[in-house]
Amino acid sequence: MTTISTDVLVVGLGPAGGAMAAAAAACGLKVIAIDRKKALGEPVQCAEFIPLPLASHARGPGVLQQRVTGMKSMLPSGAVTTSAFPGLMVDRAAFDRALAHEAQRAGAELVLAGALRGVDAAINVARVATPAGDVDIRYRVLAAADGPHSAVARELGLAPLTTASTRQYTVPLTRPYHDTDIWLCDAYPGGYAWLFPKGARANLGLGVDLRIERDLKAPLDALHRQLVAAGRVGSEILFRTGGAIPVGGMRERLAIGNLVFVGDAAGLTHPITGAGIAAAVISGECAGRAAARHVRDDDRGALAEFEAEMRDQYEAPLARAVARRRELNRIRHTPAAHEDAPHRRGWIAFPEYFSDAAEALCAA
Ligand SMILES: Cc1cc2nc3c(=O)[nH]c(=O)nc-3n(C[C@H](O)[C@H](O)[C@H](O)COP(=O)(O)OP(=O)(O)OC[C@H]3O[C@@H](n4cnc5c(N)ncnc54)[C@H](O)[C@@H]3O)c2cc1C
Repeated sequence: MTTISTDVLVVGLGPAGGAMAAAAAACGLKVIAIDRKKALGEPVQCAEFIPLPLASHARGPGVLQQRVTGMKSMLPSGAVTTSAFPGLMVDRAAFDRALAHEAQRAGAELVLAGALRGVDAAINVARVATPAGDVDIRYRVLAAADGPHSAVARELGLAPLTTASTRQYTVPLTRPYHDTDIWLCDAYPGGYAWLFPKGARANLGLGVDLRIERDLKAPLDALHRQLVAAGRVGSEILFRTGGAIPVGGMRERLAIGNLVFVGDAAGLTHPITGAGIAAAVISGECAGRAAARHVRDDDRGALAEFEAEMRDQYEAPLARAVARRRELNRIRHTPAAHEDAPHRRGWIAFPEYFSDAAEALCAA
């Protein structure tokens, strides 16, 4: 068995892992980043919207697809609210590749088709299966950037995160479109349906809570048929995808000894919108700098400070979103779910979502 040593071992090369590897390597650390995928970012499991503050990460080749200006939120009554929602639609595989290449340029070693097989936290060694055989990697900091079903967490016996399920089709768009469409109703319990434009195509998808509804195909097919009939999209399905979204809020601990959780593995994805790319990049960059202080400056409080920073930034909004989900789930498949008011309280486009009166109602 080959054994190699590194300052930082990053498991997962999605946005969180790529950003962490780049930040740690830029600080001069030896970084090895592994991903079980053979082709970075593929298959895409994303609706591919990023908020404007991430624009600097959308400059790589083939990343930017189009700009988005607004959000149309559709309520059960048919009422439509349009809000400003500026952002970018990206090619998510190209986005992930650009981050990983930035890490490589900063000196990180990337190992593709390299899957985590085990972790012995007592001796700081992780076993990784690679096409060339198994390798033991001795690390000083281990980063779990391995998504909603974190293998690192599982290896260490930590609780799995609560997740919602999604299904998405990429379909032809019949005319250019610059808003994101959101459908809020009881047909998508524990989630919502979306249409995100991407040039000549659009990502049409939905998320549901599997504890309430197990069938994602029938409601997605029905929405697709409805949009085809309205002449908005073509009937052809160009690509099918889906995946899990953490919806239970932040993991109990993000820093345990010399282990850190980032991105979806940390539970930083927004439990109402499902947006997680920005939090993945921000947590990855922050953890990379904290790893540098831990390794280079022997600062034993650095990883705990990373956790404190993430809690300052994300704990309150995530807790609000978890409470809103709980309230929405409580009324699913009841007459109340056909009224607009609970959906207004449960969606970020409406002032009720942010009101403390709604908070008190959720807690009741
Ligand atoms: C259908 C869908 C649509 C979404 N749309 C949006 C959107 O429009 N905007 C938005 O902001 N967010 C969206 N999200 C959420 C967003 O995709 C995630 O929040 C984001 O990908 C989190 O990044 P990450 O790096 O933490 O995890 P991931 O992107 O999941 O990356 C984890 C990586 O770890 C690797 N890995 C896992 N296990 C192992 C292992 N054992 N060994 C080695 N490697 C491993 C995986 O191969 C993967 O590459 C969507 C999610 C889904 C499912």
